[in-house]
Amino acid sequence: MRFEDFNLDTEILKAIADMGFEEPTAIQELVIPKIMQGKDIIGQALTGTGKTAAFGIPILQRCKNEEKPFALILEPTRELAMQVSQELNKLGKYKRCQALPIYGGKSIEMQIRALQKGVDIVVGTPGRVIDHLERGTLSLDTVKFLVLDEADEMLNMGFIEDVERIINQTPTHRQTMLFSATMPQPIVDISKKHLKNPERIRANTKDVVVPKISQVFYEVKDKDKINALIRLLDVEDPELAIVFCHTKKEVDDVALHLQETGFNAAALHGDFTQAHRDEVMSKFKAGKLDILVATDVAARGLDIQNVSHVINFSIPHNPDSYIHRIGRTARAGKSGIAITFVRPQEYKTLRLIEKTAKTRIDKKSLPSERDVFEAKSRSIIRDVEEIITSEGHKLYLPLVKEMAERNSLFDIAAAALFSAYGDIKTVSTDKEADYVRLFMTIGKKDKIHVGDIVRNVAKEANIPPNKIGKIDVMDKFTFIEVPQDLADKVIRSVDEMIMSGRKVRIEKAKEKPEEAISQVKKGNKKGKRQ
Ligand code: ADP
Ligand code: MG
Repeated sequence: MRFEDFNLDTEILKAIADMGFEEPTAIQELVIPKIMQGKDIIGQALTGTGKTAAFGIPILQRCKNEEKPFALILEPTRELAMQVSQELNKLGKYKRCQALPIYGGKSIEMQIRALQKGVDIVVGTPGRVIDHLERGTLSLDTVKFLVLDEADEMLNMGFIEDVERIINQTPTHRQTMLFSATMPQPIVDISKKHLKNPERIRANTKDVVVPKISQVFYEVKDKDKINALIRLLDVEDPELAIVFCHTKKEVDDVALHLQETGFNAAALHGDFTQAHRDEVMSKFKAGKLDILVATDVAARGLDIQNVSHVINFSIPHNPDSYIHRIGRTARAGKSGIAITFVRPQEYKTLRLIEKTAKTRIDKKSLPSERDVFEAKSRSIIRDVEEIITSEGHKLYLPLVKEMAERNSLFDIAAAALFSAYGDIKTVSTDKEADYVRLFMTIGKKDKIHVGDIVRNVAKEANIPPNKIGKIDVMDKFTFIEVPQDLADKVIRSVDEMIMSGRKVRIEKAKEKPEEAISQVKKGNKKGKRQ
């Protein structure tokens, strides 16, 4: 089906083409003709399936720039009010049909002035609409279309009485559309009371959203989550990512950690002022911010283009919330990746989500340090080659010539990369399994300290000191953890080396306590000073 088949004004078709919509989404195909026939409808579809245009297009089709306002759209949050209003203004631009968002937190005087001039469509949050009704700065007598968007959210946010008060101030001969992801009883009641013979429309949502989203999970313990996140962000290199957390505190912690690691990240939750939230959102939308760390509530219903990754830092307890969250990616026909961190005790929740969302979430293992290194290297190579193609580097050529008299070109290039990118070492996720414990026959009695051991072992085995894990220096011996793949190398090079004036033996530590005891005894003997 094509938009041309709906019998729409050329002005609207032109605007649709400008927006880059190629064909109607499933819900639009079902809803647009019904609304054009004058029917009341109840629409159920996942986020990101194009519901705004589904009601917006037929409403705009009837816009005559006469009755002001001729349509009222209620939204649960100010962000949604702004977003829907923007979308309607784009769709209505050639018809010169104007939508105005009204919501709390913004100067009411400006809104009053705009309402006085007259707008075609009011898109508002229930609280602010009531406010204007009480002040007499908004009248709903001319309203022909009423849309209750995200009705279940308005219910969750305690707006339902306000919504009913508003409905009661609109003419009874209006046409009413209700959209809701779920249909809890109070919403069913409202629709029975205020909609006339509504037609219930459910788009086959699975076909629309889920196939474009690749869904994976990683098993991660709590303490490893932040490092796992950093590694994934390094390897995946998302265009825009939203990281979902359970609590505001978790949002703050994760955002801070990411900022400290050098990511361009910001936190979004209900404790921030409206002005701050607006600023964060507009930066994110403009791509000036790469990562948004948010609670469910803060990110609800937001339509942000180009979100390539949704990361559930904490698995949502409720499957609907999972569906909502992952609906933030793969918008408008793009593909996306949804990543979920699952703690070992959370497999049940994961299975429930899979069952409810009728989807499969595949397990993956976290990228290794090597993977991170390779990903970073590839991105550096891309950057450099892009610069060479665009010839932006040419003004530095005389400088290179000068340096080349004293240094090799390899050194110059590598030093330049170092100055641009710094150290590309990676964070270590202290995954215990990757480390082995070694036993060394030297201890405090030999006047040796942790620092000496790190230095000596790193030097002798020729490995970076930061690869060495936990070290326990006991009186007569020491346990030292090294990465599994380096263990043999460390043993080979360190065994029999002289430290603190004596020959040191090193071997893998015994796992079983009784063997370890005999190892210690044996070690003491072997280690005896000659
Ligand atoms: P919903 O209200 O169902 O969550 P939106 O109305 O916010 O979804 O639409 C999600 C995104 O999809 C918006 O960016 C919108 O511009 C875009 N969109 C809507 N309809 C189409 C279409 N037919 N083709 C491509 N993109 C569309
Ligand atoms: Mg919507």
